[in-house]
Amino acid sequence: MIWKLRMSNDINTHLKKLQFRTRIAIQSNKNGLIKINNTKYINFSSNDYLGLSNDERIIRAWKQGADQYGIGSCGSSFITGYSKIHQSLEEELAEWMGYHKAILFISGFTANESVIMTLIKKRDQIFADRFSHASLLIPAHNSPGKLYRFAHNEINSLKRQYYSSNGRGTLILTEGVFSMDGDYSPLLPILNFSKKVKSLLLVDDAHGIGVLGGQGRGSCMNQGVKPDIITITFSKAFGVSGAAVLCNNDIAEYIIQFSKHIMFSTAMPAAQAYTIQQALKYIKQSDDLRSKLNNNIKYFLKKSRNLPLKLNNSLSAIQPIIIGDNEQATQLSSQLKLSGLWINAIRPPTVPIHQARLRITLNSIHTENDIDYLIEKLYELYNKQEKNRVCI
Ligand SMILES: *Cc1c(COP(=O)(O)O)cnc(C)c1O
Repeated sequence: MIWKLRMSNDINTHLKKLQFRTRIAIQSNKNGLIKINNTKYINFSSNDYLGLSNDERIIRAWKQGADQYGIGSCGSSFITGYSKIHQSLEEELAEWMGYHKAILFISGFTANESVIMTLIKKRDQIFADRFSHASLLIPAHNSPGKLYRFAHNEINSLKRQYYSSNGRGTLILTEGVFSMDGDYSPLLPILNFSKKVKSLLLVDDAHGIGVLGGQGRGSCMNQGVKPDIITITFSKAFGVSGAAVLCNNDIAEYIIQFSKHIMFSTAMPAAQAYTIQQALKYIKQSDDLRSKLNNNIKYFLKKSRNLPLKLNNSLSAIQPIIIGDNEQATQLSSQLKLSGLWINAIRPPTVPIHQARLRITLNSIHTENDIDYLIEKLYELYNKQEKNRVCI
């Protein structure tokens, strides 16, 4: 690849053969609307489930935090980067989630990578739901252990793979709410199996935290299970950025001692930790926003029942519509944009081949009018597209 990058003509030809993706520079993303090239769209692609990324109280916290603690943490946690604010946020998170320890990370991707890279040694084995997020699958694949990917949400597939393996230690990976499918993992049977075979279970709850369960404590609380390790992110419902890993004292101490991501990376700014602490306060109190989101999900499901399109049986805020064909999904997404609706098309390899989709994400800011408009446009554009396809 480096060789190709040095021959600039080659790289363009090489990239064009792949699925070319572009980053779009947005002007603003506020109150459910996203502004791009001076045009506003209703944002149906945001992970800001409760609209907290523009919450005045949390913005104020960020400013106050910056005034009080400065903006950079100026060192890793072992040098001078770890402050009283980090410590109190970790304690509060651990108590909220019912774990001995919470360890802060700069992002969810880093948190997952750190845990997997630190815990997995040669002759260990990892069983991951095959639809798991890249931040789980990539470090698992690159680890010295052996990775098995079991069929999505199929406990029997997990069991079969486990009983035909012979590794020393076992780690099972899954998500609370699957990011591209929106469905929930059957956490209770997975946890029971994990206990039975003395495995560790890590649940990545990036999309469940803040949204599901009492006080927004997420998928595990919602399903009444306590896995060995939970990863939560502050980049979605919390509306900020950063992540934490929740676990018992032994696992936490091991991670703190041996994680290269903690040792050799600058800690989260204290002002950010302070902001997350304030966001946590509002997350705990936000049953009203969670019920608004739930009402929107119910409303969307009711209204979309008659669509000629395939929904994914998801009950969460993530509502993918499976289109199948890459080109058709991309075209539909572009046409929806012309109608003022921002919905990204998700194509392979992010999702399995022939399963390109429109990934609709609902939030608490959407109104019933927004949803009506979305359904109407989906119906209209899809029918028009189908008619054209038949003509060709
Ligand atoms: C978004 C996401 C992550 C990564 O979190 P960041 O804080 O954005 O790095 C990890 N896991 C899942 C399932 C996600 O959806």
